[in-house]
Amino acid sequence: MAATPEHKIHLSESEMPTTWYNIVADLPEPPPPPLHPGTLEPATPDDFAPLFPMALIEQEATTERYVEIPGEVLDIYRIWRPSPLFRATRLEQALGTPARIYYKYEGVSPAGSHKPNTSVPQAYYNHAEGITRLTTETGAGQWGSSLAYATAQYGMECEVWMVGASYRQKPYRRTMMQVWGADVHSSPSDRTEYGRSLLAEDPDHPGSLGIAISEAVEACVADPNARYALGSVLNHVLLHQTVIGEEALLQLAKVGETPDVLVGCTGGGSNFGGLAFPFLREKMAGKMNPTIRCVEPAACPTLTKGEYRYDFGDTAGMTPLMKMHTLGHGFVPEPIHAGGLRYHGMAPLVSHIYELGLAEAIAIPQRECFAGALQFARTEGIVPAPEPTHAIAAAIREALACKETGEEKVILTAMCGHGHLDLSAYEKYLGGEMVDFELSDDAIAAAMADVPVIA
Ligand SMILES: *Cc1c(COP(=O)(O)O)cnc(C)c1O
Repeated sequence: MAATPEHKIHLSESEMPTTWYNIVADLPEPPPPPLHPGTLEPATPDDFAPLFPMALIEQEATTERYVEIPGEVLDIYRIWRPSPLFRATRLEQALGTPARIYYKYEGVSPAGSHKPNTSVPQAYYNHAEGITRLTTETGAGQWGSSLAYATAQYGMECEVWMVGASYRQKPYRRTMMQVWGADVHSSPSDRTEYGRSLLAEDPDHPGSLGIAISEAVEACVADPNARYALGSVLNHVLLHQTVIGEEALLQLAKVGETPDVLVGCTGGGSNFGGLAFPFLREKMAGKMNPTIRCVEPAACPTLTKGEYRYDFGDTAGMTPLMKMHTLGHGFVPEPIHAGGLRYHGMAPLVSHIYELGLAEAIAIPQRECFAGALQFARTEGIVPAPEPTHAIAAAIREALACKETGEEKVILTAMCGHGHLDLSAYEKYLGGEMVDFELSDDAIAAAMADVPVIA
């Protein structure tokens, strides 16, 4: 008889990884480069210089397999890292599954999600190059609060454009940003030309992530002491998040496990890439063979229904063009509660590995996700953020399939944040008011019509 399994698998601070992993070094072919929107030539470092510090521009394009984590960043990571890996024994029992479910929990960070894994190094590199102000966008507020926390560590100014609908509906995330010293605007705002043009059309414009990005970029390029920070999608963001997967590899090794299935929710792709890429390295090296699965909301199915095309990262079309799975830069997803998954595009790296057949994807409607989240909260205790409810629902589907077949699969999932500031979504679900949205092919076709055609 086996001993009672460990419920939490910890690493000591001295066991924490000291490098980030760059999957580009191991892929069978490199991802297509970003393009300058005017010339349609591959974008050069100079094209990005008004937006990002040189260190991050270099990381964006690096082909080195490992990138050293600066000591100062490790010092801040140690405030909450290494994060725990949990075995979900109580959930397994409730499901009656022979599968073993593990989840890597990132809700222990100051902001309550995985996002400080990249906001801290981004603030660090900007500060090191003399930048005093960062601009950014936020949807539900997870990224804005993570950047506000990070800039506070370096005494930098932080200015956040928050999607108008969330600004009004999620006052506590806004307060959290202000606690850490950030300046928060409802987007569209009267602070930018683009925002003013939208407000002139509709003074109650609800905003979108793409619009907020356009405003933050416009404000950044107008100030030589400012740079812009993005919380997902870009290569350097996914690079920073690989600390999650590197830790999880060590933690699973401690209990002698290798995953058969790895699932993560995908908004822009950063928590998924962060967990999955180190495991994909092991898979490509023939050391393990997990199925790697992205889980997206049925209302914003970027991988399963979007096209793999060059498109803009923002709504106004100010960013370089990136080859990615997209629903069209003008696509405005229905107001599902997982605000962090309402983005029209997908990380070019995640899109590329999906095209290479190294990952698969499924889309799940939000009510199934919240049903899974309740089962998770009532057994494991933690109340998940609306985004990882998608990963949990997918893990539950897999565990129930194992119950049918009797397979003892090891399922690993990313529990990328807690939902303490998202309780209004649970209130809607418990009150029977949550709806699933049907996304029509016509809505996608209409948004795709504005995507530039590039030979
Ligand atoms: C921002 C966010 C997401 C979506 O972003 P990814 O880059 O896809 O990870 C998912 N979960 C949480 C908790 C978030 O804060």
